[in-house]
Amino acid sequence: MIRYFLFAVLIISLTALTYCAYKARTNDKPIAKPVWLLLMSAIPAVLGSALVIISREQFTSEIGHYLYYIGMNAILAYLFNFALEYCHIADYKKSYVMVMFAAMGANAVQILLNPFFHNVFETKRIVIGGADYYTRVPHLGHYVHLAVIYLFAAAVLLVFMRKIMTSARIYIERYILILCSIIISGIWESVYFIANTPLDSSMVSFAITGVLIFYFSLYYKPVFLLSDMLQRIASELAEYLYFFDEAGECIWANEKGIDFLGLKEDELYRVCDEIEKRFPQMSGRDEDWCGISSEGEGDNKRYYQLESHINEDSNYRDLVIGRFLSIRDTTDEQRKLETERYNARHDKLTGLYNKEYLFKRIEEELRDNPGVTYQVAYVDVNEFKLVNDIFGREFGDYTIQKIAKWISSRMQEHCIYGRLGGDTFCVCEPVDQFNPTRINDDISDFVVNKGDKEHHILIQIGVYEISPEDTDVSIMIDRARMALANIKRTYSHIAYYTDEIKDRIVWEQQISAELDRAIAERQIRPYLQPIVNQEGKPVGAEALARWIHPKKGFMSPADFIPVFERNGRIIDVDRHIWRCSAEILSEWSTTHPDLFISVNISPIDFYYMDIYEEIHGLVEEFGLDPVKLRLEITEQVMMSNLEEKLAVIDKLKKDGHLIEMDDFGSGYSSFNMLKDMPADLIKIDMVFLNNAENNKKARIILERLIGMIESLGMISLTEGVETDSQFAGLARMGCKLFQGYHFAKPLPVDEFEEYCSSIA
Ligand code: C2E
Ligand code: CA
Ligand code: CA
Repeated sequence: MIRYFLFAVLIISLTALTYCAYKARTNDKPIAKPVWLLLMSAIPAVLGSALVIISREQFTSEIGHYLYYIGMNAILAYLFNFALEYCHIADYKKSYVMVMFAAMGANAVQILLNPFFHNVFETKRIVIGGADYYTRVPHLGHYVHLAVIYLFAAAVLLVFMRKIMTSARIYIERYILILCSIIISGIWESVYFIANTPLDSSMVSFAITGVLIFYFSLYYKPVFLLSDMLQRIASELAEYLYFFDEAGECIWANEKGIDFLGLKEDELYRVCDEIEKRFPQMSGRDEDWCGISSEGEGDNKRYYQLESHINEDSNYRDLVIGRFLSIRDTTDEQRKLETERYNARHDKLTGLYNKEYLFKRIEEELRDNPGVTYQVAYVDVNEFKLVNDIFGREFGDYTIQKIAKWISSRMQEHCIYGRLGGDTFCVCEPVDQFNPTRINDDISDFVVNKGDKEHHILIQIGVYEISPEDTDVSIMIDRARMALANIKRTYSHIAYYTDEIKDRIVWEQQISAELDRAIAERQIRPYLQPIVNQEGKPVGAEALARWIHPKKGFMSPADFIPVFERNGRIIDVDRHIWRCSAEILSEWSTTHPDLFISVNISPIDFYYMDIYEEIHGLVEEFGLDPVKLRLEITEQVMMSNLEEKLAVIDKLKKDGHLIEMDDFGSGYSSFNMLKDMPADLIKIDMVFLNNAENNKKARIILERLIGMIESLGMISLTEGVETDSQFAGLARMGCKLFQGYHFAKPLPVDEFEEYCSSIA
């Protein structure tokens, strides 16, 4: 009975070994080959053992014994081979191995000699379980065989021992487990040898060892190793990490995480409470969750990102097996974000809102308070450029900061304010909060002092009351700015956007829209005002634009020239007037060949067109004598980009045009400037020297001016001559040419021609 049982166990072992061998054969790992060889080598010995146990005949039993001996020999050789590979022992001495394999070879030879010499064993019939059984009677060769076997066993043990002693703790398990199973089967085998019981069951242990080796070397995952590595990685992470078991108890936390909660290493049990205390939103979370939390106030405020994950056993009924929480300190990122956001919305110099953000805030404020009437105030420093020029940038910046402080200081609820740029600010506030008296008081004596520098600045404010229809903040602010423009050249502090300004804007839009048509239909055309010599005879004319509007009637240039100078369309008007003048001159070439026409060139023209190209083109087109087309420029032209403009003027002069300096004496002109003027003729405006005939000093200045102009080789012309005594006086002073109502107003071309004939 026992023999059948043992036989059955051995057959099962054999099947297991064969199966494992097959699996190892198809495995791609490098260690699979030695494993496969080892498993294959175990098959003969196990088969042999089984044969011995079940045999009742001497012959089959002896075959079993031979299989067993040869098999054992092979097992240990391949076990040794496996041990070297598994333990990664590469530096063994080849000569030792040679000796060992020689011993193994010799052993095999002496076993094969046994049928002839019975040097290893003989079989003896005994009865077990009522049946014949051929047990083994060992001879000397058997002990030689044992010696070889134990030699290999010892070598295998050495290899493993050495590996275990030199390995890191976490790796030891994979060697110890195999070593133990080898030792157990060794002992099992030895017990059988020593006790010399007839039924040998030790092959079962070899089979078990084989299967274990198969499993450990091919399928076993080093759990300790994994968890150790993961723990190490987790400890290195910047996050605070906490692992909880299914009951919510903390089972592990990284060092940073423990520190973060102010705990000691052995206080893991307090983790849960601490976390709930500091992050109440964490309590009772039983699903994956992430969120943001913060602690503290002001500069000490810290931000955290919390992430909680539930671990479910996906292999087994999806039961929750634990939870892990990671907390990341995002304070630095958050601060950086906040600074960036702040910088994107605020002006660096003053800390007020910048223009873009101000617009957005005003929009929001108006949208959120539809019942309140608001106004926008445009705040500007008069002649701020001078502050920079005279006192330097630093003082300029300081001034801006001081104004910003003043604005902030008087702000109440619902006030939105910011810096538009440069020296301009904007305040949006409910109308009833605006206190003009107080503001007037504040800014009537606004002094900026820094170190030894002190400066009074003139702050001016334009105010626009927002109506419910207004939507575009930039238009509102623009209207406040327009209100301010009305007081720009005064010392007033506050100006309101009025109906007048509104009408003017409507007007400007209207005439701008009509301009192209007005030019095409010649609603706009030049009137000619005669210019006379000392005898009162006309020598030429100034072309002055008039707009004879089909509905609005006669319009003087004061109504439209400033509008077009602001929006740049003056160049269309001038181009048109110049062309008309060229046409007239071309007609006059036969009728009035001596007369010239002076045309006005706006300072704006220099920016938006090529004046030389334009004038030169007309001269060519109409075949004019350039001397007949005079060009009037103002001193204002000479204020900026001097060189560029001088180049243009120079070219025109070279072509033969006379350059006239218009409105001399109206601006900043001085006697000194005369020498730098590229002009051939200076036009002195009588209106600016008001009542020169009654004022002795003015008369002296006028006389000297005329004298100087003449002695500098230029021609003097007075315009605005209204009386005969003016004319006589100026002629006595030496003035050469005259223009004014005293002679004629600007006249339509035909009337001008009549005028000329009447004088002649
Ligand atoms: P302006 O170039 O100084 O022209 C002289 C202005 O004085 C003219 O006014 C003329 O009518 C006026 N005037 C002439 N004699 C007298 C007088 O005895 N007493 C007084 N009080 N005024 C007199 P107007 O025609 O209304 O032109 C005004 C300004 O408009 C001109 O001043 C000129 O700067 C500008 N302007 C006129 N036409 C044009 C043009 O075609 N192009 C450009 N760019 N500007 C023009
Ligand atoms: Ca003029
Ligand atoms: Ca003038």
